[in-house]
Amino acid sequence: MNELKKDVRYIKNVGPKRADKLMRLNIKSVEDLIFFFPRDYEDRTNINSINEIRNNDIINCIITIKSNPSVVNLRNNLKLLKVLASDGNTDITLVWFNQVYIKNKLIIGEKYFCRGKLSRNKFEVQIQNPEIIPYSDSDFFIPIVPIYPLTSGLSNKEMIIIIKKCLEEYLPLIKNTLPEDLIRKYNLMNKRESIEKIHFPDNIKVLEKARKSLAYEELLILQLALISIRSNQNSNNGIIFNKSKELDLFIDRLPFKLTKSQEVVVREIIEDMSMQKQMNRLVQGDVGSGKTVVSAIAMLNAVLNGYQAAMMAPTEILASQHYETLKSLFDKMNINVSLLTSNINKKTKDEILIDLEQGNIDILVGTHSIIQENVNFNHLGLVITDEQHRFGVSQRMKLAAKGNHPDILVMTATPIPRSLALILYGDLDISTIKELPPGRQKIETFVMNSEKQDIVFDFMLKQLDNGRQAYIVCPTIESKENENLKSVEEIYKIINERFSSKYRCELLHGKLNQKEKDMIMNDFKNGKISILVATTVVEVGVNVANANTMIIYNADRFGLSQLHQLRGRVGRSSHKSYCILLNDNQSKIARERMRVLQSTNDGFVISEKDLFLRGPGEFFGTKQHGVPQLKIANLFRDIEILKIAQKDAIKMIDENKLSLDINYKILKTKIENLIENIDDEIILN
Ligand code: ADP
Ligand code: MG
Repeated sequence: MNELKKDVRYIKNVGPKRADKLMRLNIKSVEDLIFFFPRDYEDRTNINSINEIRNNDIINCIITIKSNPSVVNLRNNLKLLKVLASDGNTDITLVWFNQVYIKNKLIIGEKYFCRGKLSRNKFEVQIQNPEIIPYSDSDFFIPIVPIYPLTSGLSNKEMIIIIKKCLEEYLPLIKNTLPEDLIRKYNLMNKRESIEKIHFPDNIKVLEKARKSLAYEELLILQLALISIRSNQNSNNGIIFNKSKELDLFIDRLPFKLTKSQEVVVREIIEDMSMQKQMNRLVQGDVGSGKTVVSAIAMLNAVLNGYQAAMMAPTEILASQHYETLKSLFDKMNINVSLLTSNINKKTKDEILIDLEQGNIDILVGTHSIIQENVNFNHLGLVITDEQHRFGVSQRMKLAAKGNHPDILVMTATPIPRSLALILYGDLDISTIKELPPGRQKIETFVMNSEKQDIVFDFMLKQLDNGRQAYIVCPTIESKENENLKSVEEIYKIINERFSSKYRCELLHGKLNQKEKDMIMNDFKNGKISILVATTVVEVGVNVANANTMIIYNADRFGLSQLHQLRGRVGRSSHKSYCILLNDNQSKIARERMRVLQSTNDGFVISEKDLFLRGPGEFFGTKQHGVPQLKIANLFRDIEILKIAQKDAIKMIDENKLSLDINYKILKTKIENLIENIDDEIILN
């Protein structure tokens, strides 16, 4: 049996009781314990002199005991142990309450490491209840103390002892994952040493080297797994699409001139499409940067080459909006665009399916419906997924599998920092639309307490009187007791009472049927509805240029990037636009998040802040983006290591090192294990 898989309860110092506690920390096996890394460290290598430490600060000092310890009985059984010591320059009094047993440890003339909060009073400098360790005793003195995540009934001290014992016994069983040549190339620590030093570093330098060694390995494995999953897709038997004059003509005749960055991205796409290699490109651009028209150009390019194109969107609202946009863009051209969602009636659907299979439909737009099994294309050449973060990689692959190595284009409006894009999208080529179309004004963002609702309504009324439209977003559909959340039903009632004599207002949420949703959305688009009270169904993609006011209730309940998306529903024309965030949550983090939104309209900055404020775990959380949990690497700190790891991974896969070189065998097994455990949905969601 593999000793490393052994149940922790059989480790010395553990036993059944502690094993139960360790279980709460998800530590089941010896291996789990070995790889249970500290969350932080307490640096004791930095020794202070008593003089330099201010009142109430923590001091680490080396002291010599100068007097015999004395014990004083205070009231209520309180026993005070007191001893005089010195760091060579300054005297200090150490006192302990009710810990008389320490007395026996204290020997005059001996040196100790001493740590605690220093306090100065008129008479003396004191440390109360200091931690004290004989300095010469290297078994006890840990220069940099690891701080572990804990659970009740398990102290950090116990954890240290358990892990120390465990390492003594089992560390020799750990083998290097990385081959010698890589370890030498980057001057990394051996696996064994890096594990030992990540738990018990001698100094900060050693700790950093251990951390880097482990981070490199972790990121390399992750990159290798992601890239090998995708390299199967990146085949060299893709379709060659030649750019035609008609495409240029179409671009010239657009109702607007493409922005510089749109032009660049279009060029990158057309270039990719002209190659034998299958395109695998991610287009990221902030909300409103004009991704739709870019995707339309790509689809036209496919159609002009005699192929079909498919576009999948996460919501029906968005799919039908794209359908309308494409129809009007390709108006008077001989291009057949169709819409397929789950709400289309059976007869129409059957017709669409036949036309699609016979090749009479050039472009199919739809929701998840278009990846169902009975949907067959005639000669699918290009697949596009809009708002990629809403889909799993498996869904994208299902769509791609409906063609013979079609080109793949992925659009996202949740811009993510480069470091994350590298992880999430592995070897996808990335294009970025960096600028917004001209004439857009900054969306003015206000944060208010919900008690000020009336002021907000007055403000909205002014906008409506000027001919504009407004969105009001609430976190829930219905109000629930003991939940302090505003619901669309509650707010709709208030709004309707107040405004319906003058302006039409409607409700929009996911529980309505498709017909109702379509009607409402259409009427809002056509300006027949002035106020739309909605849930986050309007979050992605919805484009109504005349709407200029966005009001969001319980703003603290939404993620930063989500709020940015919602805000992006306005500011889509040259009308001055406003976003009002109603927030009653006075916590520091909530206020900070509101401040971020007020201070910038830049989606990249916002997602970076989001990541910073929430931490990668939560940012990815709830399968929103989902990558395997990183144990050691940090996406902010380790971006340089990530870049190197990615480059190495690409090279290794190109050279087929994992299969050809016996030294890469352990690495290969690790990657195979990881791939098996990566659920499609969590690579890219
Ligand atoms: P997103 O990137 O959020 O998907 P859209 O593609 O919906 O953005 O575009 C937002 C709006 O900007 C649309 O009304 C679109 O017609 C318009 N638009 C796109 N590109 C340009 C441009 N170069 N100049 C002016 N308006 C543009
Ligand atoms: Mg869009």
